[in-house]
Amino acid sequence: MTKRGIAASPGIAIGRAYILKKEEFSILEYKIEKEEIETEIKRFREAIEKAKQELEIIKKKAKERIGEKEAYIFQAYLYILEDPLLIDETERRIRKERLNAEASLRKTLQLLPTRFASVQAEIIRERFRDIEDIGNRIMRNLLNKPSLTLSHLKDKAIIIASDLAPSDTISMEKGKILGFATDIGGRTSHTAIIARSLEIPAVVGLGNISEMTKAGSMVILDGNKGKVIINPSLRQLSRYHKTQEDFLHYREKLRVLRSLPPQTLDGREIELAANIAGPEEIDIALRDGAEGVGLYRTEYLYMNRSVLPTEEEQLEAYKNIAEKMLPYSVIIRTLDLGGDKFLSHFPIPQEINPFMGWRAIRLCLEKIDIFKVQLRAILRAASFGKVKVMYPMVSGIEEIRKANKILSQVKKELREEGIPFAQDIEIGVMIEVPSAAITADILAREVDFFSLGTNDLIQYSLAVDRVNEKVAYLYQPLHPTVLRLIDSVIKSAHREGIWVGACGEMASDPLSALVLLGLGVDELSVAPTSLLEIKKIIRGVKWEETQEISAELLKMRTSSQTRRYARARLSTKIKDILEEDRNVE
Ligand code: PEP
Ligand code: MG
Repeated sequence: MTKRGIAASPGIAIGRAYILKKEEFSILEYKIEKEEIETEIKRFREAIEKAKQELEIIKKKAKERIGEKEAYIFQAYLYILEDPLLIDETERRIRKERLNAEASLRKTLQLLPTRFASVQAEIIRERFRDIEDIGNRIMRNLLNKPSLTLSHLKDKAIIIASDLAPSDTISMEKGKILGFATDIGGRTSHTAIIARSLEIPAVVGLGNISEMTKAGSMVILDGNKGKVIINPSLRQLSRYHKTQEDFLHYREKLRVLRSLPPQTLDGREIELAANIAGPEEIDIALRDGAEGVGLYRTEYLYMNRSVLPTEEEQLEAYKNIAEKMLPYSVIIRTLDLGGDKFLSHFPIPQEINPFMGWRAIRLCLEKIDIFKVQLRAILRAASFGKVKVMYPMVSGIEEIRKANKILSQVKKELREEGIPFAQDIEIGVMIEVPSAAITADILAREVDFFSLGTNDLIQYSLAVDRVNEKVAYLYQPLHPTVLRLIDSVIKSAHREGIWVGACGEMASDPLSALVLLGLGVDELSVAPTSLLEIKKIIRGVKWEETQEISAELLKMRTSSQTRRYARARLSTKIKDILEEDRNVE
């Protein structure tokens, strides 16, 4: 049986299934006497204390395994243990409803999904799962149950679970856990992030795989294609053994590229940088030869916690990345909240069109205090490395001017306070709103660089919600509108003497990356795990040829024409370049 899901972490795993059952607790619900209230609260608080101690141990383990900064997720867990949604609500139930601690906690946990249900955002759902994981931990302590861990595992196995918490993933030993597959989850879940940084192959979002698989069954897990085969045939097994070998060999071979320049056969060198959402991705970026960070999505620093990050905390995070990246630069994008990214502790009113609503730079220009704290941290971090600042979702020149005015104020304040910072930080904007793309010639005179946010640019210019699978067929990166907008942005920028990068997913896709190259981008910023592949493709083509292809594409009328043409000209070439070292099945 073959099941398809979301490819969360690349690689091939072949082995026996170990089913990790979701924890279910039998809980007695009973009324307590008034005199018992304090005892129940005390029990509840002790269970929380114990959960904190357990998490401190896990955090320590995480620090040893994936590094100090990368263990931040477990610090976030510790913050959640203080989240009023969980703690105050439960204590209120013990006091007001006179329910025992277990029942009060369960009720709080049961209500959480309804609070989040109206929000489609994956991030919020992920956060809910984090809270649930912590809720289970407290419950286990209340009931005095031993905690369930993967460390009991004796033999090598592929883990199949309904869902996995980051605390499960972090305990995974690479040699023992061959890979994992889960019913739910998305690419941005912490579990997927950790899997990638530990390089454990993973497929998530498989529906009901945990019910369909029997313990001990033979499993093939393909983290490259997001596929899981249960009880494969002998032929499939031998084919995948070969694919696995080829993949490992291919990865190893790609490594030789890490220190080679991202240069085309006819000598055009572009910058190849990495997109990161947090410190956990920086090590892969460095290992695979990123020449800087082209997009640091700072909003993740604000998530999974109950209070906003302080200036010092932000400074620490930005400084660390800036120092690690030297001699290359790090482009720190200011807070891009809203759309599909929310914080539970920061109320954004429910909107009918959140993607077109109060978000990103619009929000920062109103919540100046929050914006200033971030700008202070960025400016201060810039004195430890090469840091550039970038504003998201800019729709016109007024927003740039307002943001720059606040930046100047912040500089003045830092100067008066005698705090060191970088005086002349480079300023850039994301070009991801059609109005910004169309007026790029005007905006180019105000900033030092542009970065094409193609994910949003496609969504807004084609009026296709990027997270709605019903209209996914309309989401066409090579639509003539998108190509024309990108072309005109690049031309305007170059006319004004500034450089243009691309940090949307188009840059990580081999075919679209070549089209961007042909249109003349100066930088591609890609997912860290795509760095070597994109570099290999760049090194295998002539810039002149990509320019000629892109010029042809610009003449076309429909996206099916452009797609067909780009595939006809580039697909075989890309396959050949990549297959030089890899025999794809
Ligand atoms: C984009 O819109 O292309 C982009 C890079 O930003 P994000 O995906 O974070 O919106
Ligand atoms: Mg965007």
